[in-house]
Amino acid sequence: MSTVSCPECAADVKLEAGTEVGEIIVCPDCGVDLEVTALSPATIQLAPMEQEDWGE
Ligand SMILES: [Zn+2]
Repeated sequence: MSTVSCPECAADVKLEAGTEVGEIIVCPDCGVDLEVTALSPATIQLAPMEQEDWGE
């Protein structure tokens, strides 16, 4: 199991075993949606709130 920092509030967010890339998790502290973008190392980013292309 890995722990990552919420990009919104910096709280520790635990990734449960079996978490997959692309999965959306919710920060237990601020409640923001977070998308798992990588597992090794564990990386998350803020999930789009709407179905829009953010265009990196
Ligand atoms: Zn948070």
